[in-house]
Amino acid sequence: MRKLKARGYTAAYKKRRSPEKVQYQKSQQRLHKQRWWASLSPDERKVVIDTKRRRYQTSPTTRIKKQKDNKLRYVNLRKAVLEKLGGRCSSPNCAWINSDGSRGCVDFRCLQIDHEYGGGTKEFRSMTMHAFLKKVLENSDGYQALCANCNWIKRVNNREFSKGKPLSSNEPQFLAESSSLEPAVL
Ligand SMILES: [Zn+2]
Repeated sequence: MRKLKARGYTAAYKKRRSPEKVQYQKSQQRLHKQRWWASLSPDERKVVIDTKRRRYQTSPTTRIKKQKDNKLRYVNLRKAVLEKLGGRCSSPNCAWINSDGSRGCVDFRCLQIDHEYGGGTKEFRSMTMHAFLKKVLENSDGYQALCANCNWIKRVNNREFSKGKPLSSNEPQFLAESSSLEPAVL
């Protein structure tokens, strides 16, 4: 007997779903997964984690898919955080001119998340990038978006490389010149 091929039906169904339906199904899947994980004993969890790790290490397809998924999740999360922070460089002195002639960099490729009052490196080291972005997405008080140039200028002006020590007379002159030209960006 000839086998019937059902290829394409799932894809067609997935295309047909409304955005609300997709959201609902995704939330149900997440809920189900959480319940399943909560029902496992520590030993069972270890088996699941080991299996996943082994699959990641031995199967190139799994690894590539996982890496792609992670990358996509990171890019989307970063984009959401930058949009929440205004989507453009917050420095009033930003010298970047966009293609429409306005000032203040809007290029997501070089926008960075900056701690308005410093202390960023410590926080970065204490948690994963994902956890940090999630945290900023939930509560963005004290954070701002700066383009790479403005972020660097702020670091030099605030003497963040020298642990806040004032400029001494034997330091390179360009540091003194640049910090006297521009007011510190907060
Ligand atoms: Zn800027």
